[in-house]
Amino acid sequence: MNDLGELYQQVILDHNRNPRNFKRLESANRRAEGNNPLCGDRIQLFVQLDGDTIRDIGFQMPQGSGCAISKASASLMTDAVKGKPVKDAETMFEAFREMLAGGANAPGKLAAFSGVRAFPSRIKCANLAWHALHAALQNRAEPVTTESAKDF
Ligand code: ZN
Repeated sequence: MNDLGELYQQVILDHNRNPRNFKRLESANRRAEGNNPLCGDRIQLFVQLDGDTIRDIGFQMPQGSGCAISKASASLMTDAVKGKPVKDAETMFEAFREMLAGGANAPGKLAAFSGVRAFPSRIKCANLAWHALHAALQNRAEPVTTESAKDF
């Protein structure tokens, strides 16, 4: 593996071991749940929207229900969008999804997941938190599941 690949792997391992924003957010005014039955990943996402800005964000994964990729992706996603306008978060979501579909790398640390492209079964793991974010920002009530979402 090349140096960049190793660096990316370190980022994913770090965020899996020490997930950022791994908390239930009592101040949340948007929530979403995501399920990826293929892998067993489950996420609860909490967003505190302040006008058009994501003031705070947190996530939880019930014990044993998030694989390394899904947890690291949720951690990096929350880090990336915290404090950002909703518009920017949606742009990052599109860039992340396009990267995993074979497009250009997403900006910054999100590029760490570019290697997931080589493992199609893990793409849903990486995308789960982003789809949950999208649902929360759209204020959709129903849980997100990788089986129903066509564009996962
Ligand atoms: Zn997974």
